This record gives sequence, structure tokens and C-alpha cells, in this order.
Amino acid sequence: MRRSTMSRSIHPDFWRKAGDSKVREIARCYGRVSRCRICGSLELAPKFRVAFPDFGPNASHAWPIGLEPPVPYWNIYGCGRCGVHFPNPMPTADEVYEYYANQQDYDEWEEAFYVADTPDRQHYWSRFAEKLTRLNGGSGRLLEIGPAAGHLLHAAREQGWSVVGIEAAPKFGKILRRRGIPTHQGLLETFSCKGQFDLIVMLDVLEHLNDPIGDLERCRRLLTSNGRVVIATCDIGSVAARYYGLKWRQLVISHTFYWTKASIQVALGRAEFDLVQLSSVRWWDPERPLERRQHRKEFGKLLVRKAVQLTWLPVTRRSRLAHTFQSTFRDGRLDYWMTHKLGDQTVMSDVVLAVARSRGFAAGADLPDHRASPKV
Ligand SMILES: [Zn+2]
Repeated sequence: MRRSTMSRSIHPDFWRKAGDSKVREIARCYGRVSRCRICGSLELAPKFRVAFPDFGPNASHAWPIGLEPPVPYWNIYGCGRCGVHFPNPMPTADEVYEYYANQQDYDEWEEAFYVADTPDRQHYWSRFAEKLTRLNGGSGRLLEIGPAAGHLLHAAREQGWSVVGIEAAPKFGKILRRRGIPTHQGLLETFSCKGQFDLIVMLDVLEHLNDPIGDLERCRRLLTSNGRVVIATCDIGSVAARYYGLKWRQLVISHTFYWTKASIQVALGRAEFDLVQLSSVRWWDPERPLERRQHRKEFGKLLVRKAVQLTWLPVTRRSRLAHTFQSTFRDGRLDYWMTHKLGDQTVMSDVVLAVARSRGFAAGADLPDHRASPKV
């Protein structure tokens, strides 16, 4: 077991594990990053702080670099060349894994936003699975890393895919097994299986990893020679991230890398992938004309939302009649749409989606280090 990185800016559980001051002193240097872990640049500078737990000005998790939060925090550094941001010192691989491996039960928020199998969610994931099928030119073998409650894998299996999931958090592993989805409980580096995959999907995963380039290389070795990865991750270079600044919804303690389009391309190249498509999770489609149509539709929806925010919402705040109408119309559906959906920062698309093709790999050679036998 590697020694944990200990400093004032680390999660309190990590701090407690530090033990005596000598260990702390050694550990303080352990995760210090002097080169960008994606592009290798030395142009690193502190940008902001992310505090743990929920604490900060304006109900945000993030603090300006000049202020000292009264709770543990990460110092987030940005790379001047590729634009990626990450905590410095960086949490170790063990710390990152333990954070998820200790999560035994999901809470009410996760039940509502991840677990519940609602018709809206079924529709969304079924459409997403259809896109994967068109991308692949038919169904095949699909591996999803971090499938959470397994909605995508369930939908893909319905469409003829043979599916496998790798899930670090036991709270989601239980659900996957209950749904009958073959699951490896643990990490990508401890996973092995017979045969290779046509497609590997990582949605909202790349921002949680300790060694993203190493994991992308592991993915490549699990793919067929022509296989693809589909990656969706938060984009700190997006319009939404720039607009919201320190109030950007993605600034949370569990994120180890805040990506940009440039840094994703660098990481994929270093892991021997060729970029095929760089898009947004909101309008991505493997067929370009359909993608362009969806892009226009999303832009139109954004304009409508902005108009409602500037006109209708102020009216409901001033007029009790308008407010009552909004909160009671069709059992509060209107209220839900106006207040929750309109306030949702995802409308500005801060999640980038990349499709990349493996540059090929000699099957069977130089396979990843297998530390556990998979149950798939
Ligand atoms: Zn960089």
C-alpha cells in the first residue's frame, strides 16, 4: 500500500491516516506535481481551490486562490499549454480508489439522479445505445467503465449488445448484479477477460481518474484492432465553465482532472488513439447531418430558455397569481421545468464527447497487469 499524500489541503480522512509528523512530511512531497501529467509542460500555475465539504461563497465548492477556506481543500493548478486542471498535490491512486470503494449505499439524491429507472431515463439511454449501434455498424461487445446503475448497458443489451461493466463503487455494483449485468467490481487495472471489445464507453469517468493516460492505454489493449472509445467528460474550456467561473457546477472535490478539448486530444494521442469526433454530449450523433440538426435544436432551446429566464421567471417572482399557476399547472410539471430544467447549467453544454479509434494492438501481447480474477 502506497503512503497517502497528506497536507492541510487533503480530505480529512486522509489527514487522520497521516500518523506522525515525519510521515506527514514525507507524504507532503509525494503527490506534488511539477509537470503536467497530460502534456508534460512545466507551465503550471495555481488557479483556484475546491473545498471539502460543501462550503464556500455563493454556495459554491470553489474558492479564489487568495482566500484560505476554513475546511480542507484542494489547490487546483492549470496547465498553460493544454489547459487541463488538477489538484496539486495530486491524490494517490489508492486514495482515489478508496473514495469509491468505501461507498456502500447510495443516498436520496443518487436515487433520484442515477438509480431511478424512469421512462425519461429509459428513453434517453435507449437513444444513446442506438447511436452506439450506428457508430459500430451494428451491435457487438460493449464495455462500460463506471456504468453506475447500468441504464446504458441495460438499453444496449436490449439492442443485441453483449455487455460488461467495470464499477468501483459497491453501491452501484449491487444494482448492476441485481439487473443481471456482468460486472467487475473494482478497477480497470484489475480487469481481464477473454476476447476483446468493439466499443468501450466512459461517461463522466475521465475526470475521476488518477492515471487517465494509463487507463486509456489499458482500454486500447482491451479493444479489437479497429475498436473505439466513447468518452464524455467535463470541459473547463467550455463557454459554460467560463461563464459560471467559480460557480461552475463541475468544481467538486471528487474531480481529479478538469479537461479541455486540447488536453483530451493530447491524452488520446499519447494512449495511441486517433480522434474521430469531438462533440458535445448534448448533440453528438455519429452521423454528421443528424449531429448538425441536433446542434441547431439545442441552440434554439437555449435561446428559449434564456428568454423565459429574462421574462417569465421575474413575473412569477412578482405576481402571486403567476407563481400559483406555475406551481400547480399539471401537478407542478411547469414549476419543475421552469425552475429546475431552466436553471440547469448543462444547457450550455459543458460536457465534451470524444470518439476515438484504436491505432491497433497485437492481441495477447503486453497485456495489462491483472491483480484479480474477474467474474465475467
Ligand atoms: Zn498540459
